[in-house]
Amino acid sequence: MRKETAINYAKRMHSHHKLTLPVDVEHLAKKYANLRFEEFPIDIDGVAANLKQRGKTPTILVNKDRPKSRQRFTLAHEIGHVVMPWHMGTICDITNENLVDGSQEYLTMEAEANAFATELLMPTIWIQRLLDEHENLATISQIIVKNGGVSPIAATLRLRAMLPAGYLFIVMNSKESITYAGRSDGTYATPPNKGDGPDAIKRLSYASDTYTFTAGTNTYFWFKLPDEIELEGESDGDWRLLLDTIVKEITRNTDEQIKYKQKVNGVLGYANSLIGKGAQTEKSLYSACVQRFANNSALDPITKHKKFKNFLASKIRDLMSKI
Ligand SMILES: [Zn+2]
Repeated sequence: MRKETAINYAKRMHSHHKLTLPVDVEHLAKKYANLRFEEFPIDIDGVAANLKQRGKTPTILVNKDRPKSRQRFTLAHEIGHVVMPWHMGTICDITNENLVDGSQEYLTMEAEANAFATELLMPTIWIQRLLDEHENLATISQIIVKNGGVSPIAATLRLRAMLPAGYLFIVMNSKESITYAGRSDGTYATPPNKGDGPDAIKRLSYASDTYTFTAGTNTYFWFKLPDEIELEGESDGDWRLLLDTIVKEITRNTDEQIKYKQKVNGVLGYANSLIGKGAQTEKSLYSACVQRFANNSALDPITKHKKFKNFLASKIRDLMSKI
């Protein structure tokens, strides 16, 4: 609720000052506070001091050793601390999580200042218009970076929060190692882990669209995952027998056979729970299962088995027939 209020403060700031993009945060900050760019001996992005202190003007300090786009975000964040009436005293924005005051109140104020900064630099109506006008998420990301004056990761996280279910992003460094990944709310597929390699990209080959752009030494990938996938298997036969056949061909160890079946049933149980949550078609359920199976490398022997698609199609038809 308070986060919503923080966003409204940023919206009001836009209309009150008739701001244009990229927002001149330096000019704006000077209307509310003393502003200094400084070097810090510790790992800190910025400070908002003298907040709501009688007779004192608030002061904003920004770490000048950070990249320009990051300084802009920090500045927008500190303006948030200054204008939100319940943010009081002195707030230090420490980058190193181990040194952060972990109190709930501090974390809430940080989330509010971030929500304020996000809305100030990348207004909701602007992002929504970009999403309406363009299909290519790489194009949209690059427009946000350029016209919003933000970092590619800030633009990516902004899109993540606004996209509907079914989108996943990956950031890969020059050594082809994943440094960041995430998904829009409600997406079935789980993002790969930090440190995973290019195999994670291959596992998303079922995506209906892929958008890529590079920024510095990083490559950004957006995947649009299909709402529905055509059932590929012939689904002749009983899915239980098919699963039995598959696990027996993979291993003769009965304990391992049981473990495989439990893992497969875990994914299918999830699919079953989706049926209870809302309307599903055979094809949408198949897509949900493909998304859940695709990045589970422990199940590779199963999912790469020639009878797996038959098994999955048969199981899904069985699930649907029971509705
Ligand atoms: Zn802060």
